[in-house]
Amino acid sequence: MDKLTKEQRHRCMSAIKGKNTKPELLVRKFLFSRGFRYRLNHPRLPGHPDLVLRKYRTVIFVNGSFWHGHEGCKYHVIPQTNVEFWQNKIERNRSRDADERRRLTSVEWHCITVWECQLKPKVRQQTLYALECLLCHIYLEDRRIKPYETTEAECGMVAESVESYGKSK
Ligand SMILES: [Zn+2]
Repeated sequence: MDKLTKEQRHRCMSAIKGKNTKPELLVRKFLFSRGFRYRLNHPRLPGHPDLVLRKYRTVIFVNGSFWHGHEGCKYHVIPQTNVEFWQNKIERNRSRDADERRRLTSVEWHCITVWECQLKPKVRQQTLYALECLLCHIYLEDRRIKPYETTEAECGMVAESVESYGKSK
């Protein structure tokens, strides 16, 4: 542990802190502002997903590119020292992630992974809007609602009740 560079130590500390890491907060804030409601770290689902949206039967993992071994990502760089140690560690994380996803999909939950690098300022908006689209798509697909069958209630729109207009006594 004492041989860690400043950078590695920082990564280490953020992993220990675990919950409420900044990327996760970005996703939570955005979803909340768009009207999505969720639970955090659902204890009864495999992998204790970061966010659980029951209405969408969807869980969202917000994963650090380094610890979860984001393939081909520039933030996933194995440190020069103790290469084997890091490789094993990250490989274990990766196979655990894959296992959790399999368990979740086998009980018909949708799994979405948002990578830390997809939340960097330049690409953040794009990522978050894509996430919103994906959730809406999942919702509609699961219910197989065709657009022309969609009622106001399902759109989540609130209309004033008819009685309030031009009611003559
Ligand atoms: Zn990445």
